[in-house]
Amino acid sequence: MSLEFSVRPAERVPDRERARLVKDPPFGQVFTDHMITIRWDAERGWHDARLEPYGPLPLAPSAQVFHYGQAIFEGLKAYRRPDGSVVAFRPDANARRLNRSAARIAMPALPEEDFLAALELLVGTDRDWVPEHPGHSLYVRPFMVATEPSLGVYRPSGRYLFVIIAAPAGSYFKGGVKPVSAWLSTEYVRAAPGGTGEAKFGGNYAGTFLAQRQAAEQGCDQVVWLDAGERRWVDEMGTCNLFFVYGSRLVTPALTGTLLPGVTRDSVITLARDLGYPVEEGRVSVPDWRADAASGALTEVFSCATSSLLTPVDRVKGRDVEWTIGDGSPGPVTTRLREELTGIQLGERPDPYGWVHKIT
Ligand SMILES: *Cc1c(COP(=O)(O)O)cnc(C)c1O
Repeated sequence: MSLEFSVRPAERVPDRERARLVKDPPFGQVFTDHMITIRWDAERGWHDARLEPYGPLPLAPSAQVFHYGQAIFEGLKAYRRPDGSVVAFRPDANARRLNRSAARIAMPALPEEDFLAALELLVGTDRDWVPEHPGHSLYVRPFMVATEPSLGVYRPSGRYLFVIIAAPAGSYFKGGVKPVSAWLSTEYVRAAPGGTGEAKFGGNYAGTFLAQRQAAEQGCDQVVWLDAGERRWVDEMGTCNLFFVYGSRLVTPALTGTLLPGVTRDSVITLARDLGYPVEEGRVSVPDWRADAASGALTEVFSCATSSLLTPVDRVKGRDVEWTIGDGSPGPVTTRLREELTGIQLGERPDPYGWVHKIT
């Protein structure tokens, strides 16, 4: 049986103030009027589903999330189309990935239909927060944390809280697509075989801030994560997946368990194959990346994620090495795939895959 939501309306942010915030949002700091909360315990399963005013959560200091870090999240976007309607992009894929992350961290699964109903209720209620400006969107952040007030570690928490909040997001690329530079992290590792690398799990991010700071000190935008054993094979970059373009052939690291299975990655593979670009899910080594960039065989590299879509990578730096790819402008394959993807999201192109989920 699907969940029934109780509704407690928020005092809305005044129209003029909201219009100002939606026009030029400081990303991730301003949230819509409402949030979704749903609770879970062993006796009742998922219950007490609410749409309520955005605000602080009541949690005990002994809530397990503060001590043992059981916390997972998702990230997806809703777009406003020129006709005023609001759509979400592949929310069913995020619902499924949330449950795969939940399984890995020993948390309960939330039925996909309840995830979608919660998303529709929140985004539908706060639809005025979905920006109209092309390239802008509403970023939706579902997450789940362990709330049992107990320091016992002999078993996972017996209580959980699932929440959805949403934030208006401006264009990631003010003034056009800017390429990013990459720092090869050989000192730190994000994920190891058998670990939690393929879950969208909070601890994976806490462990990467130090390397990200090091990248910045080296004048680079993002960290490239390498395999834990040899520090030779590329997994992903920052919070994005990577694609390597050899003329018209694409290679992306296979989902070995140590990288995040991006929804954008999956969309890019599908789009590329249908456009006639062969795509291989395989392995890319750092020495090959460098040699193929030097020989010119490697023509483009791009990262992809919900937040930044497709972004060219133009420069790579490591402890004793540095090289560039192309001339720093987005290559033709990156540009084509990016246009196809945004075209489907905004309804400018047909959606043969059923990726677009109408909300209102
Ligand atoms: C979220 C995320 C991605 C990209 O996933 P999308 O579903 O495409 O947004 C890639 N890598 C990491 C580590 C991530 O957290």
